[in-house]
Amino acid sequence: MNAKSYSAPARKEAPDVSKPSSRHGIVHLLRAELAGDVLGPGDPGYDAGRRVFLPGFDRRPAAIVRPTDAGEVADAVAVARDAGLELAVRGGGHSYAGYGTSEGGIVLDLTGLARFEIDARARVARAAGGLTAGDVTAAAAAHGLAPVFGDTSSVGIGGLTLGGGIGYLVRKHGLTIDQLLSAEVVTADGRVLEVDDNNHSDLFWAIRGGGGNFGVVTRFDYRLHPVDIVTGGMLALPATPETIAGLVAAVEAAPEELSVIGNVLLAPPLPFVPPELVGSPLLLALLVHAGPLDEGERAVAPLRALAPPVADFVRTMRFDEMFAAEGPEPLPRAALRTFFSDALDEAAAGELLDRLRASTAQFPAVGIRVLGGAAARVPAEATAFTHRHRRLLVTVSAFYSSPEEDSAHQAWAKDAATALRQGADAAYVNFLGDEGADRVRAAYPGTAWDRLTEIKRRYDPENVFRLNQNVPPTEPR
Ligand SMILES: Cc1cc2nc3c(=O)[nH]c(=O)nc-3n(C[C@H](O)[C@H](O)[C@H](O)COP(=O)(O)OP(=O)(O)OC[C@H]3O[C@@H](n4cnc5c(N)ncnc54)[C@H](O)[C@@H]3O)c2cc1C
Repeated sequence: MNAKSYSAPARKEAPDVSKPSSRHGIVHLLRAELAGDVLGPGDPGYDAGRRVFLPGFDRRPAAIVRPTDAGEVADAVAVARDAGLELAVRGGGHSYAGYGTSEGGIVLDLTGLARFEIDARARVARAAGGLTAGDVTAAAAAHGLAPVFGDTSSVGIGGLTLGGGIGYLVRKHGLTIDQLLSAEVVTADGRVLEVDDNNHSDLFWAIRGGGGNFGVVTRFDYRLHPVDIVTGGMLALPATPETIAGLVAAVEAAPEELSVIGNVLLAPPLPFVPPELVGSPLLLALLVHAGPLDEGERAVAPLRALAPPVADFVRTMRFDEMFAAEGPEPLPRAALRTFFSDALDEAAAGELLDRLRASTAQFPAVGIRVLGGAAARVPAEATAFTHRHRRLLVTVSAFYSSPEEDSAHQAWAKDAATALRQGADAAYVNFLGDEGADRVRAAYPGTAWDRLTEIKRRYDPENVFRLNQNVPPTEPR
C-alpha cells in the first residue's frame, strides 16, 4: 500500500471556541502549527480572504489558513477536528452553497499549495488541489494539450473534479473524473494517502463524484489530451421551441467531437444583441468541436441552420481561448435546481420559455448540457458519478439580490424543474445549492449512496468534512 502516514505533532489543548478570546486562541494555535498564512479577524487580507465567488455568502470565519503542503493541511484539519470547529475546505470558492467559507469556523484555503507540473511526453498534469481550471488549461495549452474541465476558468479544479466535471469536451473525452489517474488525499485522521485504482481504490472511487466528503485532495493527476486548435465559440439564436429542441437533437446527432452547452435566457443589453431583442428569449450555444477543422464546420452547420443567428462567434481558435472570457460579476444570490433529463422536445421547450418569462428574478436562465459520447461509455458503477445513461443535464437558475426574495425564486426554480424534467429525478452534485439532505441523496441514486456512506464511515467517521453536499457516516437503513 502506497500510504505515507503523517503524525501531527503534539499540540496544546484546543481552546473553547464559543468564547471570542478563544477564537483568537485558534489563530495563535494555527500560527504555531503552520508556516503558511494564518489570518484572523482584523488582519490585513482577512476581508478579501473570507470572500467566495457568489457575493451573498458574507461569513466571518475564526481563521483563514493557507497551508503550503499536505502536512500543513493535516495540521489544520487536526486543529479544526480537535476544537470541533466547522472546516470550510476551499478550492476555487465557486460552490453554489457557499461551502468555501464559514461563520466562526476555519477556512482551509488551498491556493497556497505548491502548484503543478506538466509531463508533456506522458500527457499528464499533476496539479495542486487549490488551482483553477484556467490555471491548468493555460499550462497544458503551452504544450498543445488540454485537460477536461468545465466552462469557466475561475472554477476550482478541487470542487469541479470531486463532483464530476462536465464541460466542453464531455462527449469527446468524458468527465473530469474520467481523466483522473491518481490523487493525494489528506484524511480526517491526518494520513496523507496516494490513491488510485490499486491503492485505496474505495477512496479513489468515492472522490470521483462523491464531493469533498472523504478528505482534502492536495494533488490531482490528470490525463491530458492533444486538443489544441478547435472549432469553437458562441452561436446566439432566437430561443423558440423549435431552436431549443432542435439544438438538442442536432447535438445528439452530431459526431462526439462536438460538445455544446445551451443557455436560454432573456437577452440582456449586450453589444451583439439588437436593441429590439433585449428582453426576448435568446439561446446561447457555447460549443467546441475537438476534431479536424473541416469536420468542425460540417458539425456546426445544422446548428447554424436552426434559425438566422442573432450573432455567430464560432471560429477556428485555440481551445484555451474558450476560457478567456469570464461572465459578468454574479448577482449576490442564486436559486438553482439541477436535474438530469431524458428528452427535451418542442412541447417541453415551449414550457421552458413560459417558465423563463414568468420569473421575476433579475437574471433567470436555463442551462442545457447534452451528454452522451465518451461520458456515457464509462460504466455507471465505475465512479461515484452514476448518471452515465442520462441524455441531458439541465439547470434552472435565478440570480437576484435580496434575501427577501429567496422563497419566491426557490419556488420558481423548483416548480420549473419539476415541470421540465423527463425521467427519474436525479441531481448533479456540483450544481446543488444548500437544498437539504434529500437533494444530496438525489445525486447518488441506486447503490451509490450506501457505498458512499460506508466509505465515509471508514475514512471520516466523525464527519469532520461535513461542510459540503454531505454524505453522513450513517449505517445503511
Ligand atoms: C460560474 C460557474 C461555472 C461553473 N461551471 C461548471 C461547469 O462547466 N461544469 C461543472 O461540472 N461545474 C461547473 N460549476 C460548478 C462547480 O463545479 C462547483 O461549484 C464546484 O464545487 C466548484 O469548485 P470550487 O473548488 O471552485 O469551489 P469551492 O467552493 O472551493 O468548493 C466546492 C466544494 O468542494 C470541496 N473542495 C474543493 N476543493 C477541494 C479539495 N481540493 N479537496 C477536498 N474538497 C474540496 C469544498 O469543500 C466544497 O464542498 C460552475 C460553477 C460556477 C459558479
